[in-house]
Amino acid sequence: MATKKQKSPKSPKPKKESFDHLVMKEESGWLNLNKKDLGTIDEFARVYIDFLNRSKTEREAVDYFIEKSQEKKFLPLRDVLKLEKIPSGSKVYAINHHKNIILAVTGKDPLEDGVNIICAHIDSPRLDLKQNPLYEDTGLAFLKTHYYGGIKKYHWFNIPLSIHGKVVKLDGKIVDITIGEKDEEPVFLIPDLLPHLSRKIADKKVSDAFQAENLNLIVGNIPVTKKDQKDPVKVAIMDLLNQKYGIVEADFNSSEIEIVPAMKAREAGLDASFIAGYGQDDRISSFAAFRALLDLEKPQRTTLVFFVDKEEIGSTGNSSIQSSFLEIFISQLVEKMKGAWSEKTVRMALAQSQAISADVDVAFDPNYKEVFDNRNTAKMGQGVIITKYTGHGGKYNTSDANAEYVGKLRRLFSKNNIVFQFGEMGKVDEGGGGTIAKFLAHFGMDIIDCGPPLLGMHSPYEISSKFDLYQTYKGYNVFLEKMR
Ligand code: MN
Ligand code: MN
Repeated sequence: MATKKQKSPKSPKPKKESFDHLVMKEESGWLNLNKKDLGTIDEFARVYIDFLNRSKTEREAVDYFIEKSQEKKFLPLRDVLKLEKIPSGSKVYAINHHKNIILAVTGKDPLEDGVNIICAHIDSPRLDLKQNPLYEDTGLAFLKTHYYGGIKKYHWFNIPLSIHGKVVKLDGKIVDITIGEKDEEPVFLIPDLLPHLSRKIADKKVSDAFQAENLNLIVGNIPVTKKDQKDPVKVAIMDLLNQKYGIVEADFNSSEIEIVPAMKAREAGLDASFIAGYGQDDRISSFAAFRALLDLEKPQRTTLVFFVDKEEIGSTGNSSIQSSFLEIFISQLVEKMKGAWSEKTVRMALAQSQAISADVDVAFDPNYKEVFDNRNTAKMGQGVIITKYTGHGGKYNTSDANAEYVGKLRRLFSKNNIVFQFGEMGKVDEGGGGTIAKFLAHFGMDIIDCGPPLLGMHSPYEISSKFDLYQTYKGYNVFLEKMR
């Protein structure tokens, strides 16, 4: 059978012109800044450092957001709900268990068309006191701890620590305790074993060498003088606490006391391009989102930022993203903005929403090249990161954002001159992590992870880039105001 003669493919002729527009280029964000930009970035970092020093726990972060938003005329939701109707342009906030806060600015568009949401977490890895923490051993008094979230235990030995928390006494009175932040106050330490006697321990695996039950805070050495007193140092410590706070040992049973690094956040590096501080995962995204909302012009769509707790232990519990707090908040808005509550409107509002799961991601660390895929890991100083999916292994346990939504965010950032980069955690089978994204995706809304890179993530003293912090703030601000 005769066939038509087929054209054979021709080899392309090599071209000479520039192809720069075809390939991605990696460039330091610091290159394209003028003196004014640098001043703005430094000033923003200065306010952020103050926030970090004042907000070492989720409760303290909530207090900071209440104080600063009230200065900008935000009103508690319970006051606003007394009005007949909530007009557009209203600024409101609501609190859940004093560990979550939602701040919102109402827009002109109908709620069922969706809301622009940024959600970040304000809890960080730390040590909590156990419910029976105080004991004496061989003339030393200690407080026992239970670590919270993903820590490397050895990080917590022999660094200055402070105590932040709440004790609920038997009569219901609540006592707030903070010790170790002011220069004139003592700090607390967990003594490590000296190298001279660590020969056998040094041969162990890191996970065996540092034991959770050894994370005990040293708190005292002076005994009471009463003769035949059992545990005289422990009793002396309890006496000090009783004089200062009116508490007895059993009151620890109903307390929440967090042990955090006492170090102050500060600039780092010879060029001072970094910020070092505790709890930047995820108070850096939280601060950027908070400021992005405060600096918003009147938005067309209703916008809100939501700060949650318990992300670091898997987002469980009534102050986590899995509580009904957001649904209740949206319900209350629906009732007062539409004139009547309807479940359909609430569900539509959530399903039509567009959201950013604001969380940090890892920055490439050249000292540990082997765990990263260089081409797909974010770099310090190259802007805010868009992370399409998190999870581990074969994308387990994640919300993998749709390409359409990724494209929309990319377009928005490009149009508004936000310096951004794409990144994922590390090599595919090296490990992994998760965020709150999957819990909001459950409502049907579009959601994607987006936040700044960190070095030394989950350590007591994490490192961020001033440049990336500022780009994160700008990116969030543009998202809240302009995402359609
Ligand atoms: Mn995080
Ligand atoms: Mn984390």
